[in-house]
Amino acid sequence: MSLQSLTSFFASALELQSRWLAFHARLLETMTSASPGNPRQKTQMMDTITTEGQDNPQATGRKHVYRFGAGAADGGAGMRNLLGGKGANLAEMASLGLPVPPGFTVTTDVCTAYFANDHQFPAGLKEEVEKALNFIGEAVGARFGDNQNPLLVSVRSGARVSMPGMMDTVLNLGLNDETVEGLARRSDDRRFAFDSYRRFIQMYSDVVLGLDHHLFEQALEQYKNLNAMELDTELSAEDWAQLVERYKQIVQDKLGKPFPQDIHEQLWGAIGAVFESWHTARAVTYRRLHNIPEDWGTAVNVQAMVFGNTGDRSATGVAFTRNPSTGENALYGEFLVNAQGEDVVAGIRTPQYISEAARQAAGDDRPSLETVMPEAFAELRDICLKLERNYRDMQDIEFTIQDGKLWMLQTRAGKRTTKAALKIATDLTAEGLITKEEGLLRIDPEQLDQLLHPMLDPNAKKEVLTTGLPASPGAATGELVFTPDEAETLRNLGKSVILARIETSPEDIHGMHAAAGILTARGGMTSHAAVVARGMGRPCVSGAKDLSIDYEGHKMTAGGRTLHRGDVITIDGSTGEVIAGEVPTLQPELGADFQQLMDHADEVRRMKVRANAETPRDAKQAREFGAEGIGLCRTEHMFFEGERTTAMREMIVADDESGRRVALAKILPMQRQDFLELFEIMAGLPLTIRLLDPPLHEFLPHEDSDIRETAQRLGVDEAKLRTRLAQLKEFNPMLGHRGCRLAISYPEIPEMQARAIFEAATEAGQRTGAPVVPEVMVPLVGLAGEFNEIKARIDATAEEVARETGVKLEYQVGTMIEIPRAALRAKEIAKSAEFFSFGTNDLTQMTYGLSRDDSGSFLGDYMSRGIITNDPFVTLDADGVGELVQIASERGRATRTDLKLGICGEHGGDPASIAFCESVGLDYVSCSPYRVPVARLAAAQAALRARQTKS
Ligand code: PEP
Ligand code: MG
Repeated sequence: MSLQSLTSFFASALELQSRWLAFHARLLETMTSASPGNPRQKTQMMDTITTEGQDNPQATGRKHVYRFGAGAADGGAGMRNLLGGKGANLAEMASLGLPVPPGFTVTTDVCTAYFANDHQFPAGLKEEVEKALNFIGEAVGARFGDNQNPLLVSVRSGARVSMPGMMDTVLNLGLNDETVEGLARRSDDRRFAFDSYRRFIQMYSDVVLGLDHHLFEQALEQYKNLNAMELDTELSAEDWAQLVERYKQIVQDKLGKPFPQDIHEQLWGAIGAVFESWHTARAVTYRRLHNIPEDWGTAVNVQAMVFGNTGDRSATGVAFTRNPSTGENALYGEFLVNAQGEDVVAGIRTPQYISEAARQAAGDDRPSLETVMPEAFAELRDICLKLERNYRDMQDIEFTIQDGKLWMLQTRAGKRTTKAALKIATDLTAEGLITKEEGLLRIDPEQLDQLLHPMLDPNAKKEVLTTGLPASPGAATGELVFTPDEAETLRNLGKSVILARIETSPEDIHGMHAAAGILTARGGMTSHAAVVARGMGRPCVSGAKDLSIDYEGHKMTAGGRTLHRGDVITIDGSTGEVIAGEVPTLQPELGADFQQLMDHADEVRRMKVRANAETPRDAKQAREFGAEGIGLCRTEHMFFEGERTTAMREMIVADDESGRRVALAKILPMQRQDFLELFEIMAGLPLTIRLLDPPLHEFLPHEDSDIRETAQRLGVDEAKLRTRLAQLKEFNPMLGHRGCRLAISYPEIPEMQARAIFEAATEAGQRTGAPVVPEVMVPLVGLAGEFNEIKARIDATAEEVARETGVKLEYQVGTMIEIPRAALRAKEIAKSAEFFSFGTNDLTQMTYGLSRDDSGSFLGDYMSRGIITNDPFVTLDADGVGELVQIASERGRATRTDLKLGICGEHGGDPASIAFCESVGLDYVSCSPYRVPVARLAAAQAALRARQTKS
């Protein structure tokens, strides 16, 4: 289950870490050399690309390096597999003539070859990289390793799909004891040069040499303390130069060798480290959670640095071409003048708004980019429009302005809330940028989940402790925890928890997933917590400034109150409120965009969507969400309370059939009433009622006190009850006396249930005037003989009821396909079964021989080793279990062409499994009520994709 949600939609985990890492790193840079935009150089470079592309490795299909920049590129957006998402988009932007610092991409194929060849780079790569470096150097008028005019580059990872923050980045590469002097001279800013150098040493030592960054941070702190300094800005060029010496000494002391001065060694070290980062534990976990194949590998992007901290005409920022929270068609983003992203993370400086409109709406009195750099802003706005038109989707971009010149550093489809996703899809369709069908395909069905979550009752009393930013919509209540591990542990015990952190980081991801909601003391709307939570659909309040968290004391203080671990709080991610205790919630109102999307999905899909429901409340909810019937009513769920349990127990301990019949006669009216309500709610829609399934001992008490009390209530001897309990105990209840096997042993049970169904259906038909056609479903059939015998009893009961009521009902009797044998013998079973419903929970269990209740404890090992990529209880195993579904469908329909086929296992609400159901031609999927909208959209998408494949 958790995996299901983890894979849901946004890849986003760790986004912010990477973003700010990139952010501050970009800001570090200054490119004092010739402008990459120089038109003469541009022509030269385009020529170079064209000529060289024709002979060399490209022609032989072994091209390792693709260049981009100054209006041209070897690759483009369609080459994500080879160039990774970032590389492909940089190439695309360069081809569009946008200002992209020149660079090159080492392909994912090289990464694969590197691992296949014992961590060796393939032959020919070095030469290609050398040429590409010359290409960048020529474009920017600098040279890699030149003591007078050094070219500095960034080295970043970039997989096919974004894995934010998972892999490593090195910036300012190309600095050593000599080039730093060149940089100081060229920039006429010695302080900047040495600051850049010490940052490079720290980053390189961390990423490539494996030294902990804290070592360097500590050295900096010590230095500041010794010199009575507080802020980094107080350090002079000489201070940074001294720190550079200290940093190098740390490397020497820890590794017994000096920090590499050879810039080529630096470059290859960084490229290798980026490849190696594909296998870090966090990257492996991320891939597992997002179903990203191990063998994809990452590309490496090497790009000329540009710098946003060269003065007041420089800046850096991130922007979305539309508002990612609301979907509003307005440029949205933040920037910092002459600053580094670190300043944001450290809370020293708060980013400013990009547009005047956003600034005014937020009531911020610091100027917007639109005001301080109107030309760069205008260019940025035009580029955003161009990018949207090109990609036909909302983009998330990163940019740097160096001395008034705008540089585009990245573009990709922007993460967005579900609300925004719906609005953007609707708007882009209305704007004619995408078709209606594309609009449908743009929404990740899993994402709809976010819309379906309860909101706080506005009339409820609440004690608001503090307010933070409304970072991810929805309300959540739970016990307060302060560590991700605690969140996971309590969640595994079935508890709802709110994870409170000062700020979140990539290491917190498992806890964030386990939590019902996330609260942070620091961080803005684009903080790690906010982006990740939005992606996961978790309510989140970030940057609650009055909140102080004490990890060691397991407590937090807010609004003058101290709350401890385990105290219950509520957060409202839509308003930013942090509230003491539990607050009642209301169902969300689904807006017009949602309705439009659902209507369109309904027009497009072929499969029907039903719900698994047995209570009137669930049935009503299912209908509200658009269910077209009930695909599974688990009747045993109707016996787990009060009087009904007692009657059931009486039936189980009865000595003989007549005793059982007496007890069953007490249950009959209750069952009839249950079914009557369901028939009325479903008003003529199909309702599949499954006969009793679980083993009988599940209905009996197990604790001593309960046994005693039950014996008294039933008026039976306690010893007799214990004997009965012992008789019913099974070694493997899942493979024991359950499902239709009970009906074979105790035919009076299905008779009672069938009678209740038919009597209720007759009455409902009379009351509502709508025809009711019950579908009676027999569970756990493996043999045609089992089914036939039970069906005969059901038919006989139907006749009896018809005789008694004078009303001849239409009904169907069908079976679940949950046992591999039934799938294989479908031809025979379909002679008498009028429908099949695939119970893929049991079918998976039985096909794999894997306990559905116990496998959670070890399936993780299988996934981390890559033996399986998905939990088969979450996403249908199309190869194995799916083949049985296909066989049963084909064989069943060979006997009975109009055999109705559906699925009612948990997979019925899983989009990937729904796509499989479409491919085998099932008539409907059935899932829990809250998954119904997800299933409607997933079914529509599956139908669209199937049509696209055919045409
Ligand atoms: C199934 O096995 O898939 C099913 C729907 O039945 P249950 O989960 O009740 O065993
Ligand atoms: Mg089952």
